[in-house]
Amino acid sequence: MNKLTIKACPLCGGTHLERALTCVDHYASGEMFHLCRCRDCGFLFTQDFPVEAEIGRYYETPDYISHTDTRKGAMNSVYHWVRNYMLGRKARLVVREAHRKEGRLLDLGTGTGYFADAMQRRGWQVEAVEKSAQARAFAKEHFNLDVKPHTALKDFAPGSFDVITLWHVMEHLEPLNETWETLHSLLTEKGVLIVAVPNCSSFDAKKYGAYWAAYDVPRHLWHFTPGTIQQFGSKHGFIMAERHPMPFDAFYVSMLTEKHMRHSCTFLRGMVTGTLAWFSALVKKERSSSMIYVFRKKG
Ligand SMILES: [Zn+2]
Repeated sequence: MNKLTIKACPLCGGTHLERALTCVDHYASGEMFHLCRCRDCGFLFTQDFPVEAEIGRYYETPDYISHTDTRKGAMNSVYHWVRNYMLGRKARLVVREAHRKEGRLLDLGTGTGYFADAMQRRGWQVEAVEKSAQARAFAKEHFNLDVKPHTALKDFAPGSFDVITLWHVMEHLEPLNETWETLHSLLTEKGVLIVAVPNCSSFDAKKYGAYWAAYDVPRHLWHFTPGTIQQFGSKHGFIMAERHPMPFDAFYVSMLTEKHMRHSCTFLRGMVTGTLAWFSALVKKERSSSMIYVFRKKG
């Protein structure tokens, strides 16, 4: 396997990198990967991950539900129920943050196309981009959506979009700084960038340590906190305008984590931790399992 070894921090360029955790790929390969932390800025990332050309096979498992849309087992049922609830919540958030009921929207990493479809139904002009050919075919078949491959990003003109959304996508993108730059250029001056990512300083991340399912190595390359993602935005000409908790994610992530730890009663244990995490995020939203960040261009 060809691996990418990161020698300088993608956020601050610092070279004082230390090994922080060792995680196992529970989904696809069973292989181990190390997470490194930059001692200068605190940014956490997966070290020595498979290069872009070879990482595809780490997504090839019948369990990767965001792409294959299977409906097996209690956890997947919960996932699908929550997804429907979240679709409505995401759509309302876009309208509220963009200060408009319709407009031009780019959904980057659209997966099977549920959100893109939901926004199109609400009258938005939607462009959707997705790397997985299988997921693009699903979106075409189920929603008649013409989802473009990732290479299409460079074909959009600057200032093409009022809103760009990345729902649990940025942590997967190898060219991280380049992506931020592209997003800045594709947005209008008043445009809004909405990014949802797992929060590795969350209640559940701290409880589970290296077992935390949302480390999801080697598919998740970057592990953001509210602090480090704000710095990324700032580095690329954005200010973080809002942050919203996604407390439901703690239930799913906790159940998955309990399963990886081979505990008994994974559903029940996951519910208990999910509930504790939910209360914790009520008190302090920065402890939420995942967060939605809203960025605007610096004036
Ligand atoms: Zn750094």
